[in-house]
Order: sequence, then structure tokens, then C-alpha cells
Amino acid sequence: MHQWKIWIQNKDLPDLVRLMRPAGPVQSLKTGMFGQKEQIMDKKRVIVVGGGASGLMAAVTAAGEGAAVTLLEHNERLGQKLNATGNGRCNFSNRKVVPDAYRGTHPEFVQEALSRFSVEDTVDFFQRLGISPVERDGYLYPRSGEASSVTQALSMEARYRKVKIKTREHVTAVEHGKGVFQVRTKGWQYEGDAVILACGSKASAISGADGSGYALAEALGHAVVRPLPALTALKCSPKGFSGWAGVRAQGEATLLVEGKKRSSQRGELQLTNYGISGIPIFQLSTYAVRALEEKKSVRLLADFLPEIPAEELEAFLRNRQRQTPYKNTRELLEGLFPGKLCKVLSAQKDLFQALKAFPLTVTGGMSFAQAQVCSGGVSTEEVNPRTMESRLHKGLYFTGELLDIDGTCGGYNLQWAWSSGAAAGRNAAIQEP
Ligand SMILES: Cc1cc2nc3c(=O)[nH]c(=O)nc-3n(C[C@H](O)[C@H](O)[C@H](O)COP(=O)(O)OP(=O)(O)OC[C@H]3O[C@@H](n4cnc5c(N)ncnc54)[C@H](O)[C@@H]3O)c2cc1C
Repeated sequence: MHQWKIWIQNKDLPDLVRLMRPAGPVQSLKTGMFGQKEQIMDKKRVIVVGGGASGLMAAVTAAGEGAAVTLLEHNERLGQKLNATGNGRCNFSNRKVVPDAYRGTHPEFVQEALSRFSVEDTVDFFQRLGISPVERDGYLYPRSGEASSVTQALSMEARYRKVKIKTREHVTAVEHGKGVFQVRTKGWQYEGDAVILACGSKASAISGADGSGYALAEALGHAVVRPLPALTALKCSPKGFSGWAGVRAQGEATLLVEGKKRSSQRGELQLTNYGISGIPIFQLSTYAVRALEEKKSVRLLADFLPEIPAEELEAFLRNRQRQTPYKNTRELLEGLFPGKLCKVLSAQKDLFQALKAFPLTVTGGMSFAQAQVCSGGVSTEEVNPRTMESRLHKGLYFTGELLDIDGTCGGYNLQWAWSSGAAAGRNAAIQEP
């Protein structure tokens, strides 16, 4: 550790107040807001591996807490995936509390970090960095409409807080011995008192998403739940529904695993020549892909008229027929669905089933490159949910998607990156007495 002049903050201050203090230790001293005392003490060296959403948050937080932070990123630029989020607009959080927003072997793992760095804290934090939020049905975006403005704000804050940013540094190994971490890259070696692994997952074709964080964790003795693509379209049989390819229709999809209902999602179903896609299918995909991995039978039932209860469907159709007796079955459906879908539905033997529970057998998800996130990752059983610290190595932390946590669409994955990054950064920076 090297000597550095810093100011000691009152450690009893609530987390939020400490996070909200003006950026940079020197400024906060001068204001004297919290009755600080000047001391000479060691600065803790924190190394963050991965300059994506959670790594940037962790680095900014740790530096704000007085640590000497080095951020290692193997891409040439920081936040490449962050720049692609929300179709380039960055749905960075969500004000709606959704019961099953998070999945994983232990989805409840997220609760502590999310309550300590909440959606409100996130909005305040970004607002302080100059990112004004706009809200659409609970979904939060930067007012700029550009995800890159979020990356830039975080990068500027990190530089302002004196984070040493090293890009084109691919971390190949992390070793721990005698209370010190050695972090090896292809051409260099860094030494730290704490390491935060923020390497993300191997989802998407975006450069840098190579899944190398899993191997780093495994080499340190951590169990990794097999990563699988999540937030993906689903391949289905029977094939031959090319007739409906390209159709978008409102509906509800119910996922059955071994014949039992797992979950239902409503919204726009996108019908394709290989199966089915759209937000409701993305939300169900994590369960479907993992169940297939476990060799379980997986089926989807598509309800194309979810707003009409099954027991009222017959009367509904009879009424339509009474009003327009000259129409055949396909024509009777016109006005309810796009033409292509009317053709497919009316050709089914059982019209009721076709409308309310169109059966599809799920045969697979898409590739990692076509998925938005991964399910699986570093087992949360060996990580402290309050601090994100490893239970195997003191001073080792994990954040974001590298952990066995995946969120649904709607900003929940980035909120997890912010909350887990803030927890890891804050705790990694804490000086031992
Ligand atoms: C197309 C797309 C759209 C999305 N849209 C949204 C959205 O709107 N809202 C939302 O909430 N979520 C969205 N997500 C998910 C969200 O982007 C991720 O959950 C989030 O970025 C995860 O943060 P992270 O810090 O864990 O990982 P990342 O942001 O992926 O960061 C990991 C970083 O580590 C680097 N790295 C990895 N291994 C090494 C190594 N060995 N050495 C050095 N560096 C390394 C990587 O290059 C990367 O920069 C989207 C994902 C995709 C692919």
C-alpha cells in the first residue's frame, strides 16, 4: 500500500448520504459537510476487471470512498455493451416492482443490494452525473436518448475520481496469496488489496463478451452454474409455420415444463419461420432454455385472444358469425388478426384450441451471440449478498451478469449492474481497522 493523504468520513453515515457526497475526497473535505478529520493513512488498492456497466459503477464508487482504483478492460473502449442497450437508448432502470424480475438459482440474492442502492438512488446518482431521466410506463431512459451518454458520464466521473483506466488489457489470471491479489494480463501484472470481477456474461455478439470471467472465478475455486442464453427467441416445432413468419400479434404465451405451467407473459408475440419471439417470449426464455438443458419437456401455449375468457369465446365467435353470416372461418377472423395469422389459425382442426392455446413444442433457444443476457454464472451461494464479497477469498468481489442472476427485460439487468457494482465498490474500498 502506498501512503496518501485522505480524509476520514464518518462511517456511520447512511449509505445514500455517503454516496451523495460531492465527488472526490478533496472537495468533500473543503465543504466540511460531515465534520471530517484529516489523517494520514494507506489508500486501499482496488482492481476492477471489466469496464462495463457494473465495473464502471464499482470503480466510481470505490474511488469515491477513497480507494486507489485501477480499471482493466480488454476492449479498446469502455462500456461497449452498455452503448448497445435499449436499442442504443439505454433502458437503465425501471420504477415498477415486478415479482419475478430476477431469476437464478437464488433470485432473492438481489434483494439486499437492490435495497441499499435502489432505483431512487440510481436516478439520483445519474442525475448528479448529468443524466436526466425520462420515464415511459415505469421504464427509465436518459433524456438524451443515447446510451453512449451514460457510458460517457460514468467514464468521465471515473477519470475525475482518479481511476486509472487501462484499456486493451485482457485479464488472464487472478491469484490470491498473503492478503494480496496478483492480476495478470497478457503483458503486465497488477497488485491489489481487493479485486472486483465485473466481466459480464458471454451473451451478445458485442466485442468483449467472451465469458472469460467464468474461468477467472473457477480458477479461484468458485462454482459456476452453467451459463445459458437468456432473453432470446425460441425455436419451436412443428415446423412449417412459415405461413405466419413476420406476423406480430398481441397475445399471451404460457410456458409448460413437464406439462406444468411455469409462467405466463402477455404482450406482442412475433411469429417467425423457426418459432416465436417478442418480449413475452424473451421473458420466458430463461426458464425454457434451462429446462431443455435439464432434458425436460417444454411447450408453449399461445393465446391469441387473451382478453376474452375461454368460456366466452364460443358466444363471441357466434355473435361475429350472426353479424356477418356470409363469411367463412378465415374471413371471420379477419379484423382480429393480421391476414397471415388468420390463414394459419383457420386451417387448424380445432379453432378454439388454435385461438386460445395454440400448442408449440420448444426445441431450443438461440445462440449466445443472439441472446441479450445469460442465465447462470458464478454461484451466489459463495457470495455475500450484502457486500458482493466472495465467501472463499477475502477481498474478492463479483458484480453484474457474471453472477448467477438474470433479469427480465425492462431495465432490470442494468439496475442489477448498478446495485451490485455500488455494493462491491463501497465494500472493497473499506479499510480494515
Ligand atoms: C443488445 C443488448 C441490449 C440490452 N439492453 C438492455 C437494456 O435496455 N436494459 C437493461 O437493463 N439491460 C440491457 N441489456 C443487458 C445489460 O447490457 C447487461 O446485463 C449489463 O451490461 C451487464 O453489466 P456487466 O457489468 O455485468 O457486464 P458488461 O456490461 O458486459 O461489462 C463487462 C465488461 O468486462 C469486459 N471484460 C470481460 N472479460 C474481461 C477480461 N478477462 N479482461 C478485461 N476485461 C474483460 C468486457 O469487455 C466488458 O466491457 C442488454 C444487453 C444487450 C446485449
